[in-house]
Amino acid sequence: MDRKAYKSTFGKSGLTPFHCPSCGKGRLKVQQGSFSHHETKSSRRSHGHEAFDFDWVDYVFCCILECTNSNCKEVVSSLGSGGVDQEYTIDENGEHDVDYCDFFRPEFFHPHLKIFTPPEKTPESVSSELDVSFSLLFSDPSSAANHVRIALENLLTELRIKRFNSSNGKRKYLNLHQRIDLLPTKFDHVKELFYAVKWLGNAGSHSHQELTFDDVFDAYEIISQILEEVYDDRRKKVASMAKKINKRKGPR
Ligand SMILES: [Zn+2]
Repeated sequence: MDRKAYKSTFGKSGLTPFHCPSCGKGRLKVQQGSFSHHETKSSRRSHGHEAFDFDWVDYVFCCILECTNSNCKEVVSSLGSGGVDQEYTIDENGEHDVDYCDFFRPEFFHPHLKIFTPPEKTPESVSSELDVSFSLLFSDPSSAANHVRIALENLLTELRIKRFNSSNGKRKYLNLHQRIDLLPTKFDHVKELFYAVKWLGNAGSHSHQELTFDDVFDAYEIISQILEEVYDDRRKKVASMAKKINKRKGPR
């Protein structure tokens, strides 16, 4: 996961650093003639202020992005905000010069970007929550982290970890931490990963703690490793091979 690329901004006519959500191979490029941007009202008014500087400029934009893979050519709509940046250049006489260029920061993509692809056998109840998280990543990182936590809760249910205790006909629901504690010993090597996603998800649901883009990427990297441990056949095959060799204390 190239988190640096997802933090990047782009220009109104260029190639973006984002991969196509359909084929995963091509990159998304601004479709010619589709880009529209305007300066916000407060930004336009600020030009009259005596202290006005270029970094006060604030844009809104929308555009159509197209996949560069000629066999795919998926289209994705995007909208967000933008501003003006300063670039230092050297002219033909070797003199230092300053250029001003517009940059744009996406807040929404439709269809949403695919930040990582979970293993094929990942249950729908888990992958659909990850999709919701991916769709919120750029506009609301805290909610995006919270949906990773819901994906983890659903994963525990798929692994048949009970959700409540019953006594005297009453259900007492277990919290996420208690449910992780109930994971069978075969998951001991990944339990730490489960707890880490829980902590990030908890932080995402508390209004006093804003999560950053990097916090959400931490959650993505951790849950993608959990899913590989649980649903990636190749990993499971290697683990069972090692177990057999260890049991025989020699070739299997
Ligand atoms: Zn594509």
